[in-house]
Amino acid sequence: MKRHNFSISRRRFLTSTVLATAGYFLPRRLFAEESPVTVIRTAAATAKITVQKLRGNVSMLEGSGGNIAVLTGRDGKLLVDAGITASRPGITHALASISSDPVKHLINTHWHFDHTDGNEWLHSVGAEITAHENTRKHLSVSTRVEGWNFTFPPSPEGALPTRIVGADRQLHLNGTTLRLKHYAPAHTDSDISVEFMNENILHVADTWWNGYFPFIDYWTGGSIDGAIRAAEANVARVAEDTIVIPGHGPVGGKAALIEFRDMLVAIRGKVADLKKQGKSLVEVIEAHPTVDYDSKWGQFVIDGKTFTSLVYRGI
Ligand SMILES: [Zn+2]
Repeated sequence: MKRHNFSISRRRFLTSTVLATAGYFLPRRLFAEESPVTVIRTAAATAKITVQKLRGNVSMLEGSGGNIAVLTGRDGKLLVDAGITASRPGITHALASISSDPVKHLINTHWHFDHTDGNEWLHSVGAEITAHENTRKHLSVSTRVEGWNFTFPPSPEGALPTRIVGADRQLHLNGTTLRLKHYAPAHTDSDISVEFMNENILHVADTWWNGYFPFIDYWTGGSIDGAIRAAEANVARVAEDTIVIPGHGPVGGKAALIEFRDMLVAIRGKVADLKKQGKSLVEVIEAHPTVDYDSKWGQFVIDGKTFTSLVYRGI
């Protein structure tokens, strides 16, 4: 199975190599050369979209932004997350390969572009959009994410969620019950999980990147401590046989959630110790607190240095 887009990884690899060689790091601009938003949007036009059947009538599309869960049935398709607009032909083809049901429902797990970019076209073909109130809030206005060196303009009306979730909400569709549950601020302040209750499948959004260091969006309410609390909550609520869909990376289960949680806790501890000694961000990065984790977790958008700076910011 194709796990990630290699052109993005390679670009990130080259960027981090240049930064490391120059001994140069700008903490306010994690991505000094080109915003990852532009890189990811460009790559999405040619991305291969894979379809994986999970359980019951639930499948997962991978390859365009965050993982997209798809529930089929007589009430129309429900999508969890919208991918990148440039992948519309690939996503359309993938959806048609699952069933002929029209797309009627879209849930955004949070406001980030790699989960909401496709909102407008999905709405135009008939999807009602459901999300947490903070997703609507961030999409409604111009929003700067300093860590991506990017300012998102307000989204067009058709891209805005119209069914708003507070703390907790249930939907009944296609013979199953969906439970939408808001996390306390974690990766952002707008994250919700989506549980397919009859199928025992849980989409945990970007509170889990399976096999990768996660991005943490301090600019719209995220933090390392919030990310750890969400990871703890995920571990606590899943059973051994729950299928868990991460925001990025392959589907997994409880053991992989525990491994991710432990990685976050361990690196937070190392960075906190170094910061307590009075070390600057550059000194902490030079001490290489992610050295034992880089080969497994640092091969995607967020490398060890970038993740260290994200953790340092929140301690
Ligand atoms: Zn995200």
